[in-house]
Amino acid sequence: MFAVSDVVTVGALVGAAVAVLVAVVAVVVARRAAARLAELERTSERRQLEATGAVAAERESRRRMERALRAIPEGVVVVDDRGEIVFRNEAAAEFAAARHGDALVEAAIRELVAEAVREGHTGTRTLDLFGPPRRTMVISARPLLSHGQALGALAIVDDITDKRRLEAVRRDFVANISHELKTPVGALSLLAETLVDEDDREVSRRLAGRMVNEAMRLANTIDDLLVLSRIESEEAPEREVVGIRQVVAEAVTRIRPAAEQAGIQIDVAEVEPNLAVMGDRRQLVSAVYNLLDNAVKYSDSASTIDVGGTTDGRVVDVTVADHGIGIPARDLERVFERFYRVDVARSRVTGGTGLGLSIVRHVVANHDGEVMVDSRLGEGSTFTLRLPLTATGPVAISPRAPGSDGFTESRTAG
Ligand code: ADP
Repeated sequence: MFAVSDVVTVGALVGAAVAVLVAVVAVVVARRAAARLAELERTSERRQLEATGAVAAERESRRRMERALRAIPEGVVVVDDRGEIVFRNEAAAEFAAARHGDALVEAAIRELVAEAVREGHTGTRTLDLFGPPRRTMVISARPLLSHGQALGALAIVDDITDKRRLEAVRRDFVANISHELKTPVGALSLLAETLVDEDDREVSRRLAGRMVNEAMRLANTIDDLLVLSRIESEEAPEREVVGIRQVVAEAVTRIRPAAEQAGIQIDVAEVEPNLAVMGDRRQLVSAVYNLLDNAVKYSDSASTIDVGGTTDGRVVDVTVADHGIGIPARDLERVFERFYRVDVARSRVTGGTGLGLSIVRHVVANHDGEVMVDSRLGEGSTFTLRLPLTATGPVAISPRAPGSDGFTESRTAG
C-alpha cells in the first residue's frame, strides 16, 4: 500500500518529468526552427548570391558583345524604337564627324534606320564617294524585333572599295587574256587557211615559219600566265635562306644562250658569298631572269648588260642595268601592269608577253621587297630588286651598283 506522502512524491516526480519533457520538446522545436530559419537564410542568401552572379554574368556578356561590335571593321549603328542612336562602334564614329563624303554616309544611315523603325523594312543604299580617296560604301539597315515587338533598328556600313577594285582588275584581266590569246590564235588560223591553198614551196615555208612564231608566242603567254598564277597563289611561299650569288648565277645561266644569240654580253659583278635573303629560290630566280630577258630583248646587239648584288647591311639590291632603248618617262609607272607594253609592235617582234614585269612585281611583294626602275630613253634602264637582308655570316657592305645614278626618272612598285 502507498502512503499519501508517497503519492505526493510520485505526482511531483511525474510533474517534473513532464516539465522536463516539455522543455526538451521546446528546445528541439526551437532548434528545428532555428535550423529551418538558418536553412531559409542560407537559401535566400544563395538566391541572392546567384542573382548577383547572374547579374554579373549578364553584365559581362553585354560587355563582351559591345566589345565585339566595337571591334568589327564594318560600321555598326543601333537605334531604339524612337530612332535615337543608342550605339555606334568605332568604325561608324568617323561618319558622325560629318565631313565631306562622311556626311552623305551619315545621312543615309539616319534615313535607312528611320525607315526600318517606321515601316519595319530592310533597306540598302550604295554610295560612290569621289573623295579623295574614292570610296564605295554600302549602307544597309534592318529592324530589330523581339516577339514581334519593334526594339529599334541596326545599320551596317561596309566599305567595298577594295572588293570593287579587285572585281574590276579581274574583269580587265579576263578581257586582256582573251585578247592576248585571240590574237595569235586568229593569226594561226589565217596562216593555216592560206597555207592550205598555197602551191609555191617558198611561200609555204614562209607561212609555216610565221605559224611557228605565233605558236611560240601563244606558248610563251600561257607559260607566263601559269608562272604568274603560281606566284600569285603562293603569297606566303616556302621560306629558306637563299644565296643571292646563286640566284644571279642561275638566272644568268638561263639567259646566256639568248644573249649570245643576240650578240649581247652579260657582265656579272662579284657578289658577296654570304649575301642572302629569306625566300623562295625559284621565284627569285624567275624575277632576275625576267629582268635579264627584258634587258636582252630591249638592247641592240653588241651592247652590255651589268648584273650585281650589293647591300647596305639592311637590304640587298639586285640590279640589272642595260644600255638599250630605255623607257619613256610617261610609261615608267605602268610597265609593271599586266600586259602593258611601251611599244606593242616591238614587243610582238621580241615575243614579249607583257607579263614579265608583273611576275617580278609579285615576287618582290611576296618577299616584302620592292622593285625600282631608273631609265632614260635611248640610253638604257636599270631595274633594282630590293629585298630584306638575311646574313648567313659576315657580310661586306658593298658600294651602290654603278648605273643607278644620273637617270632622270625613277619609279617604284612594291
Ligand atoms: P614584255 O614581255 O612585253 O617584255 P614586260 O612586263 O616584261 O613585258 O615589260 C613591259 C614593257 O616594259 C615591255 O613591253 C617594254 O616596253 C618595257 N620594258 C621592260 N623592260 C625594259 C627594258 N629593260 N628596256 C626597255 N623597255 C623595257
